[in-house]
Amino acid sequence: MSKKIVIAIDGPAGSGKSTAAKNLARKLGFTYLDTGAMYRAITFLAIQNGIVENVEAVIEMTKNVSLKLKYENGVTRVFANDHEVTEQIRSTEVNSKVSEISTIPEVRKEMVKIQKRMGQEENLVAEGRDVTTVVFPDADVKFFITATIDKRAHRRLVDFQNINVDISYDDVKANLEKRDKIDSGREMSPLRKSEDAIELDNTGLTPEQDLEYLYKKVKEVLAIKKQ
Ligand code: C5P
Repeated sequence: MSKKIVIAIDGPAGSGKSTAAKNLARKLGFTYLDTGAMYRAITFLAIQNGIVENVEAVIEMTKNVSLKLKYENGVTRVFANDHEVTEQIRSTEVNSKVSEISTIPEVRKEMVKIQKRMGQEENLVAEGRDVTTVVFPDADVKFFITATIDKRAHRRLVDFQNINVDISYDDVKANLEKRDKIDSGREMSPLRKSEDAIELDNTGLTPEQDLEYLYKKVKEVLAIKKQ
């Protein structure tokens, strides 16, 4: 099996990295991997089973769960133990708990194992908080995407409105700030810019401009690597 190409993209919530990663994957003909969806699925199951506060039980559940991601028509469909949880993992309740669940080292180890395997099997555009640093430290191209907190909160508010979730701008912003703090401050695999990642602040950019920039950089870097 030939070595697969991996493009890794990290950044905080609402930075537009999911949209950028999906668009880039489509343009390159690569598989899109939404690692956040995996942590969301574990969080949803923990809430459903009433074990959010019981770390040991969450770890046990994570070791035994079968997670499947299917990317179709712009949406990552998520199946946990063969039940579809695509919509449930985007709830405000999951949003408020996912960063805490994501601090559990054993949960991270299980997720990273699955993600690394995918990187050996398919050409990938992977996005998350640790894909440039921990999951794919040798990725062919790495990006770190950011935007101002206000821009990110506005984007997330629109996402919620699109799925008919009633939430205020202030609540969205507070949730983002809380998640940023936990994601960047945790001991294992904190969100940070890898030294060799190309940084993009897309506050003033459209998704089309993001894509144009990322695609150009990927072509440049891959051409350099080939020489
Ligand atoms: O990307 P998304 O907002 O869906 O991610 C949800 C949460 O999952 C993040 O706030 C973070 O706490 C966690 N996460 C993570 N590592 C990743 C992807 C997501 O810790 N690679």
